[in-house]
Parts: sequence; C-alpha cells; structure tokens
Amino acid sequence: MLRPIGRQRQFRSSASVFPSDCDYTGSSVAPTKTSPRKRGFRKPRSPAASANAWTERTSNGTRILQVPALNKLPWLVHGFSSRPGGVSALAGRSAVAEEKVEQVLNLGFAEWDSRENVLENRRRFQSALGARELALVSLKQFHSDVVHVFETAPAEPCQGDASATNRPSLLLGVQTADCVPILLVDPRRRAVAAVHAGWRGTLQRIVMKAIGKMQMEFATNPADLLAALGPAIGGCCYEVGTEVASAFLARFPNAAEWFDELRTGDEPNPLQWLNMMPPGHQPPAKNVFLDLRKANRAQLLDAGLSAKNIFVSDLCTACRLDLLFSYRKEGAQSGRLLSVIGIRPS
Ligand SMILES: [Zn+2]
Repeated sequence: MLRPIGRQRQFRSSASVFPSDCDYTGSSVAPTKTSPRKRGFRKPRSPAASANAWTERTSNGTRILQVPALNKLPWLVHGFSSRPGGVSALAGRSAVAEEKVEQVLNLGFAEWDSRENVLENRRRFQSALGARELALVSLKQFHSDVVHVFETAPAEPCQGDASATNRPSLLLGVQTADCVPILLVDPRRRAVAAVHAGWRGTLQRIVMKAIGKMQMEFATNPADLLAALGPAIGGCCYEVGTEVASAFLARFPNAAEWFDELRTGDEPNPLQWLNMMPPGHQPPAKNVFLDLRKANRAQLLDAGLSAKNIFVSDLCTACRLDLLFSYRKEGAQSGRLLSVIGIRPS
C-alpha cells in the first residue's frame, strides 16, 4: 500500500518543479532547470532516477505529463495526456466517489462518448501542448506489430500500433488505457515515433520493430534515441494468466524478471509456477503480475538505447483513477489517454 502513496508524492513533487500556470509557448526552456538535473547526473543511473525527471504542466484544467530531456529540443512537441479537464461526461465508476458524473479528457472514440466531445478534447489537448497547427495522426490500433511511416497525414486512420516520421507538422499519437505508450525521438536525425505496447505488442517486440523501421527509413542510430514510457498499468495491478507468462518465457531469456507472483504475506515466493513438474502433479495454474514497462525497457536496452536516455513514468493507470484511465478497472466505460510526439513546422 506504500507504493501508490509514494507515486502520488513523487508526482506532486515533480509537478512543483514547474509553475502550474506555465504556458506552452516554448519559453519554458529556462536555465533554472539545469541545476536539479546536474545533481541527477552525479547519481547512479536507475529507472527510478529517470522516473524522477518527469514533470507535469497544466493549462486550462488539462494536465500533461512530459519529460524535460525531450522538452529541451525546441523543434519537438510531445506529451502524455491525463484524465481531468475535458468536456466528456463520464458516469458510473468515478474515482471521485461523491460525484455522479465526472468531466474527463477522453481522447479516444468510445461508445459512451460523442465524437464532438472527443474532437473538442483533442483540440484542448493540442492547444495545451502548443501544437494546434500539427495534424494529429492516430491509428486504428489492434495489438499488432504493424509500424507505419508517414510522410503526410492519411485521410483515414491506418490499422497499426506504431507510427514514425521525419516530416514536420505531423503529430503522431497512440491511445491507451493500461497499455504502455512509448514515444521515441532521434535528436540527430530529427525523427520521431509513437508506439502502443500492450502485452501482445510487447510479446511481438513492437518497440524494437519501430526502432528497426527508424534505422531503415531515417538511418537512426539507436544509441542516439531518447525514449519516454508513459503511464501504464503497473506490475502492482496487471494480473495475467500463466499462459501469458509462458509465452514471454518462450521468447525472452530474461522474461522471469518482468513477472511477480501473488504475495500471500510472509514468505517470498520464488516463482513456483516456473518449476517443471511431472504430468498430473502440476499445481493449479496461478495468476501472476506482469510489469509491461520493465519488459519494454529491457527491449529498448536490447535495441541499443542507453539507460540514461530511457524515461519511465511510474504512474499506474489502475492505482491512479483520479488522474488516469484504466480499462482493467473501468471496463467499457473507460476513457482513453493520448500520447503524442511530432516535429514542429519550421
Ligand atoms: Zn497499480
């Protein structure tokens, strides 16, 4: 129970690094940012150190999560949306118990919401990012490993789960409500990608395939890439069947590090489900917890990224219904988060 509280505190403290009313004109790249980061360089690098580098910025009730290392690039726009601040009325399983209907920033077309609301929310989100002039390129996501490269915005959304471009004026976006949104930027070649990685996409190595596409199309060197892994369901809440664990173990030598057993309390349980037993003597199948961000971070390292260039949010969508959406927790009534990255028009 300590971990969600820790998250909340970290989220608030990172938010306080910036004034909550700062605008999105790009003028916020101030020298004052460098002093806390300089101290960070002295510390040993770890996922936690990268997580601390996240900031929150708000504009007209819209709260956006960003990574300072990406904000430093003046030609780049990026951001991870959150729940509050929109025009969509979400009834039912509100995180705010006393409210029957909650106003949320739903950025995906869902049955419970109108198209007009979603479009208005998207306008607000883009406006808050200072990215109104960029054309949003979203995908018809289907948990695949399909990566598209865009030179212009397509008339209709393409089927796929990752997109990449080196052209300005396109705002690549992926929708999530538990799955991992991953934004990639190649500062040297000025190319970007957005990736949607649920367990199926992660199993199919979609983020590595997106990087492969960037290597082919833009001559990207993975060592140059910066990666931001946004809010997603955490290893604290993402319970999956052992068949999912077995599928990962068959494909990744280090997959056992991404899973955790249900804890009963006192005894540390050393992944008993991994033990082979004679037929007829198998213990009943037991669910396990999967840490999708850990799995994708491992793939990024395997692809050649430097650990210091990988920024992982530790916000769990299922733990933080006050701030995020979780399909696991809210079902069909869940909203959708949108994570975007693009190159500003010159
Ligand atoms: Zn959680």
